[in-house]
Amino acid sequence: MSQKRDYYEVLGVAKNADEAEIKKAYRKLAIKFHPDKNPDDPSAEDKFKEAAEAYEVLSNSEKKAQYDRFGHAGMGGQGGYGGGMNMDDIFSQFGDVFGSAFGGGSFGGSRSGGGSRTVRGTNLRVKMKLTLDEIANGVKKKIKVNKLINADGVTYKSCSTCNGTGRITRVAQTFLGAMQTQSACHVCQGAGKMIDKKPADADAQGLKRQEEVIEIEIPAGVEEGMQLSVSGKGNAGSFNGVPGDLIVVIEETEHEDLRREGENLHYDAVVSFIEAVLGESIEVPTVNGKVKIKVDAGTQSGKVLRLKGKGLPVLQGYGTGDLFVHIHVWTPTKLSKEEREILDKMKDSENFKPGSDAESKGFFRRMKDMFS
Ligand SMILES: [Zn+2]
Repeated sequence: MSQKRDYYEVLGVAKNADEAEIKKAYRKLAIKFHPDKNPDDPSAEDKFKEAAEAYEVLSNSEKKAQYDRFGHAGMGGQGGYGGGMNMDDIFSQFGDVFGSAFGGGSFGGSRSGGGSRTVRGTNLRVKMKLTLDEIANGVKKKIKVNKLINADGVTYKSCSTCNGTGRITRVAQTFLGAMQTQSACHVCQGAGKMIDKKPADADAQGLKRQEEVIEIEIPAGVEEGMQLSVSGKGNAGSFNGVPGDLIVVIEETEHEDLRREGENLHYDAVVSFIEAVLGESIEVPTVNGKVKIKVDAGTQSGKVLRLKGKGLPVLQGYGTGDLFVHIHVWTPTKLSKEEREILDKMKDSENFKPGSDAESKGFFRRMKDMFS
């Protein structure tokens, strides 16, 4: 498939366009490129579908947020809105866009030039828990799903309700004269077929349930709530139709030590005040094992060390986030008599008086700015 155009560009709206502007822009394009209006221009249908897909995403706040953040990659699969939209999806959306006058069959009557359609199976949704380590590196997972598949040994014959056309035509008298409207046959769901013979385990649509193990490749950098769609791995379509998609919803398991913020990670390191004074090398957990870092002599509590590239990879993007190590100095709460005596001796030393010099004042001010 060629490079997908930006959805905002497709609809010709600004990134901050509101719901009404998005709807208006789509309505204009849908009318302009409607296949019924452009019988001699085969590219019109592509443009019509492209606009419908853009509207489908941008009119849904959840999908829009995901698209704004991750682009087409965030829409699932290998860079694209999973599976695309078929004409029936598009026409079913019209009721919302144009009002009920245009909803359903009357507008979509001559959609693909006659003939029955293939019934698409429903999507299957599964949740998948991932650890931060799996998210960091990407992972292949096998999951077991219970789904509808085509039963073996089913034979079909022409649907007797619609005579195999998949459509039911009605003629209604209106003030404009006789209007012919068509809608999908309710018996065969538009497939034009019905079951001739089937084995006992198949249902009325020629389907049966079966467990299947599906291997899914999760790209690095996904996050909680993201949905990946695996094209064609959902439920089989009725009457030997095409399968729907498998939608994988990502759930992130909280890491014991690391906090995630987009592609960056945070770790709280607690050191003793002696270590902060004298300097020490400490172990820091990362998503790829532990690393040793040096806490310099004279490190203040609250200092943040940045380990470049030790965060998470950016999904379908470039680069990797960083790991921020927040140094906290532990103040002892119990002292032996001897320890107290030693500290008492040092109490009045100039070196132990906190930050009167300009440099340390500057440090604490910067800290405040950073976190406020
Ligand atoms: Zn039928």
